[in-house]
Amino acid sequence: MHKQNFKIILSFLLILVSNFFFSQKKFTIVLDAGHGGSDHGANRTYSDIGRVAEKDITLAITLKVGAMLEKNRDFKVIYTRKIDEYPSLSDRTNLANRSKADLFVSIHCNSAQRSTAYGTETYVQGPNQNNENLEVAKRENDVIFLDEKDRQTFGSYNPDSPESLIALKLQQSKYLESSLLLGGLVEDNFVNKDKRFSRGVFQKNLHVLRMNAMPSVLIETGFINHAEESHYIASEKGQNEIAESIYNAIIDYKKAVDRKSGGSFTTKKPEPEKPAEVALKNDFRILLMSSPNKYNENDPALKGLNYVLTIKENGQYKYYYAVTNMASVRDINLKTAKDAGFRNAFAVGFMPNQKISMGYYTIEVYSGDKLNGNSYIIQNLKDVERNKDNGVFYYTYGKVYTLEDAAKLQKELEAKGVKNTVIQKVYK
Ligand SMILES: [Zn+2]
Repeated sequence: MHKQNFKIILSFLLILVSNFFFSQKKFTIVLDAGHGGSDHGANRTYSDIGRVAEKDITLAITLKVGAMLEKNRDFKVIYTRKIDEYPSLSDRTNLANRSKADLFVSIHCNSAQRSTAYGTETYVQGPNQNNENLEVAKRENDVIFLDEKDRQTFGSYNPDSPESLIALKLQQSKYLESSLLLGGLVEDNFVNKDKRFSRGVFQKNLHVLRMNAMPSVLIETGFINHAEESHYIASEKGQNEIAESIYNAIIDYKKAVDRKSGGSFTTKKPEPEKPAEVALKNDFRILLMSSPNKYNENDPALKGLNYVLTIKENGQYKYYYAVTNMASVRDINLKTAKDAGFRNAFAVGFMPNQKISMGYYTIEVYSGDKLNGNSYIIQNLKDVERNKDNGVFYYTYGKVYTLEDAAKLQKELEAKGVKNTVIQKVYK
């Protein structure tokens, strides 16, 4: 009798346990060893260790990370390459999208013209309102995975409905948030565990990041042309440390994601139904800083942020990052700016297509020494205005009354070959 009960309980427990194991969806991660085959990536030859090629180092580190992950039954690991071959960038992203992967990690080595540059850095895709990214997501119908909550809110997916577009934007802002989380964990481990120098987490418009429908990071593990660092990343010890740091970051990332989604074990009270996010009336940009100095795209002063709009006002250049009309995206953009080092950044509302109440917008096409009659600007633009202030000559072009028209004018100038211009607000 007693034995019989025990048997029943035991088989019941077995069913429970096996149900539990089979119902666990594995976390699919795509590991991408950069370059390969005829594409060597960065490389340099040293007298003591010979030729150091990026494609070999990325493969060695990737295989080490993969081997550690494969020991963990929660993970399914997919490699874009396991040997010295070259899958195209599209092959890599298609594989990731087709596998409906949860995470994409691309491993690379850096190089710079200056052989003094060193350290690690991690890239994530730029702000999620990147149109191309959105177009990819729209086109690739079957790579849209709304999570359970979003699916309840938005129902079936129709790429042309405005609700689906909002869902897409929300989904992309979640990817960016997740990618930033993983990037931060990776760089933290490089600094804290491996005592290396981190250059930070940056946004960049890269194919392997842009074409992926999942959180994605690209890790630059060190500089090939920095003598000391290349010896480290080419060594067994260095590669083991780097692989372990990436592995541990992925483990911590998955824990954080599980915690956020309620996890497999915890019984959480159901959250109150949140209404779908509606677009705000205003566009929001993140004001990074005001400065009397003009910085062009890719200036280190902008700390790696792209999509920066500069507006000159009362002699000050104001640098605004990204634009969105979604509150959730605005908050993420603000966090991105602060993480990049703009501690005092804040969001500023812009009413779309608002006519300026007094004065106008113009485009500052040049500042510096006086231009002579043969200069490209004087030759190609009619009616350029010239002003002199504190010994500096400022040249402006055009007169429009909304920020949108000013941006359009700026684009037209760029097409004509007049680059690095600034929108200027003139009060009259
Ligand atoms: Zn590379």
